[in-house]
Amino acid sequence: MMTSQTLLMVVLCLLTVCLIFMLGLAIFLMIKLSTLPKEATKEKAPETPINVKEEKIEESLHCQNHKDQASAGICLICEQTFCEECLREDENKYFCKDHFKTYTYNKWTQISEIRTTPDTPYEALAIYHFKRHKWLNEKVPSFIVTHYKIDTENDIIESYVQLNVIEKDAENLEKELKNYKGQD
Ligand SMILES: [Zn+2]
Ligand SMILES: [Zn+2]
Repeated sequence: MMTSQTLLMVVLCLLTVCLIFMLGLAIFLMIKLSTLPKEATKEKAPETPINVKEEKIEESLHCQNHKDQASAGICLICEQTFCEECLREDENKYFCKDHFKTYTYNKWTQISEIRTTPDTPYEALAIYHFKRHKWLNEKVPSFIVTHYKIDTENDIIESYVQLNVIEKDAENLEKELKNYKGQD
């Protein structure tokens, strides 16, 4: 009889300890939950820089000459966005008014062709970097044309990335491109 009574007492004690523990946990959780909304508002606060970024993207979606016009395409030489009215086209190549002149008044030659496949999509990256580098730093015009071919045997799409430059620049640029690729 005594043993079962002490056992009952032990069980009751354990239950009380459990109850106190549960109460503590409940209070802890309530405090935690009440502080959560404050943290959430803190996280929401830096939303402004994100909005600024979005505005910047929106800006680039507009014509460089007409800020109220949506962009219709990118000039192959300066890589700026322009509206339909500002873009000039030749055989699916688009230029801004100024660079369409550059394009039509010069003789162009292809100095590099890189084959890329879905397995090697970054192969031509150096050409894009080189082209941008020459334009932004030295105002040397060039443009990139990509041709796609479907390789039916291997069931993949290959792309041929071609860099076109003005004929008189070709020899120098070809050398520079080789050195540029060597640096990477
Ligand atoms: Zn342009
Ligand atoms: Zn425009």
